[in-house]
Parts: sequence; C-alpha cells; structure tokens
Amino acid sequence: MAEFACKFGHKSYRANQLLRWIYKDYVSHFDEMSDIAKDFRQTLLSQAAVVTPEIKVDHLSDDGTRKWLLDVGASNSIEMVFIPEDKRGTLCISSQVGCTLECTFCATGRQGFNRNLSSGEIIGQLWLANHKLLSDNQNYNEKPITNVVMMGMGEPLTNYKNLVHALEMMLDDHMFGLSRRRVTVSTSGLVPAIDDLREDCPVSLAVSLHAPNDLLRNVLVPINKKYPIKALISACNRYIEKAPRDFITFEYVMLSGVNDSLDQAKELIKIAQQVPCKFNLIPFNPFPNSGYLCSANKEIKQFKQVLMDANIITTVRKTRGDDIDAACGQLAGQVNDKTKRTLKLKAAHD
Ligand code: SF4
Repeated sequence: MAEFACKFGHKSYRANQLLRWIYKDYVSHFDEMSDIAKDFRQTLLSQAAVVTPEIKVDHLSDDGTRKWLLDVGASNSIEMVFIPEDKRGTLCISSQVGCTLECTFCATGRQGFNRNLSSGEIIGQLWLANHKLLSDNQNYNEKPITNVVMMGMGEPLTNYKNLVHALEMMLDDHMFGLSRRRVTVSTSGLVPAIDDLREDCPVSLAVSLHAPNDLLRNVLVPINKKYPIKALISACNRYIEKAPRDFITFEYVMLSGVNDSLDQAKELIKIAQQVPCKFNLIPFNPFPNSGYLCSANKEIKQFKQVLMDANIITTVRKTRGDDIDAACGQLAGQVNDKTKRTLKLKAAHD
C-alpha cells in the first residue's frame, strides 16, 4: 500500500490511513474515507477498487451457522462458512476453486480442480464475512470473526504463495490482527510444504489423517502414496518446533465400517504416541453418491473413548448447519460439477 501511495506521488503514511478505513472500519468506497486527502482520494478513485467475491447464495441455519456461496467469476463458485460459538466466531474459508487431490470422501474433490484463488480472493472472504456480519447485526462490539480455519474448498498448501500472503494479511496488526494461534491451516499432508510453512508463516496446523495406516489412507487420502504416515509424522514434529501451539490437530472423518472400528482406534494410539496431538472426530456429512455413510453415534462415542483412555484429547465435531449442506464442497457441488466426476462414480456404482 505504501508503494502504491508513493507510486502516485503521495506520502507513504497514507497507506496506514487507507488500511484503517478498509480493514478496521470496513469502508469500501473511497469517497467515504473522510480524513484521506482529496488528491489521494482522487488517485484511489481512478486507480483502485476494493473488490471482494460476490455473494451468490446466503444460507442461515437454525443453529446460527451461516454459509455463503461466492462467485469468483467465470461461473466459478467457492464456499465459506461462519460458525458462531459462545466465546468465538470461526470462519472457514476456501483456498481453491475445487481441488486436485481427490480424497474419496470429499465433495470438493468430486468437482475436480479449476484454479487457485488469489491472495485477494482468500483475504476477501474474511473481509466480506466480517463486513456482512457487522452490517447485519449491529450488536457486535468487535469483529465477529475471532478464528479462521483454512478448511474450505481446496488444499491450501498447493496454493502456497497466495496462501502465505493471505495469512500474513490475517496476522498484520494494520489489517485483521489475528493471533497465529487462532489461524489454522488444514492440510491433507503435503510434507515439503509443511516444512516451508514452518519457516515462512507458522500458524496452527491441522492434518487430515482419516486413517490409522497407510493401506487405508492410500485409498481415502491418495496423497498418502507420495507422503506416507511416517514422513507426515516427522514433518509434524518438525513443525511443532516453530508452531504457535504445542500440538497438531488430527482431523478424522468417521466413515461407517471403513475407519471406525475399535481396533483402528487402537492403531491410531500408536500414531498419537509419536507426536503431540489432539484428535477431532468429524461425523461424515453424506452427499449424493458419496459411497460412504456416517458412523453411528454409539460407534463414534466408543472410538473416542478408546483414544481418551490412552490420554489423547479427543473431541467430536458438533454437526452444524445440517439443514444447509455445510460439509465442504456440497453447496458449490450442487451448482457446478466441473468434471462430471459424480456422474462417472455413480455409473461405476450402478
Ligand atoms: S479433503 Fe481437502 S485435500 Fe482432500 S479433496 Fe477435499 S478439499 Fe481436497
């Protein structure tokens, strides 16, 4: 921003004024930025614009979960979800249109990959959600979003450069000023990029584990063939040396009869003994032709107990926004199945 101001012959301190208007006051029209010098405003009006993805669908669930489908041009849609809780508000945002990685239980993977989001499109989601929530509910004293999770559509670490730039903007005190602990990158386990993130911008890390051994993980999370569990655990241990939290969160989707037996829970304990971690069990949110069912509540409870008995902190993700298809990729999938992968899989099942 300072460079931008200087380029057009204005003082660099104007940049901070501008950032304050955009990121603290959520003003997007330059002519409303009253204390900005007239000549700088003229430059802004002729040379710049504050642009965010456009809201295509806005769903509010009975439990307060809010899900937006956003238009990022050329018939491409992405999703973001706001999950309000007592003391925090978490925004789940997307990093790509679709995804290249084809995890078999994932609605986004089914849509194939279209393109990476720019850092502006990633950060634009956070700006837009804060702006929308603040303007819809004047009762918020502060920004409604306290936590960000990069768990929406896409594998963030395959869009590395834009991701890191967006993370830096989330952390910057002149912009969103979030703490590193409250920003989480979720990855399916790209080992070299985990090492890079450790050096470039260590934030909280969540890893989509989903299986207790390579044999099953190769099927559910195919990137495992390239970076198997042993290599992944080593990368997690290296990451923790610089991470803002002293543990890794392992995400584990509960798939009935696939990865939810008590023996599999016991196998997981062996993994958990190799790296400081917590487990987050995620009841599978079925989507058409997924080929998977969610584990029964009883199974999930027993699975959790096995881990807890081994002193592993384990939570079960509350199912939120069931009435609005809040599982990642579901809403966009209804709108746009780029690869027709769902149809091919259905044909294979039939
Ligand atoms: S789970 Fe994540 S990495 Fe795997 S296909 Fe879905 S979006 Fe991509």
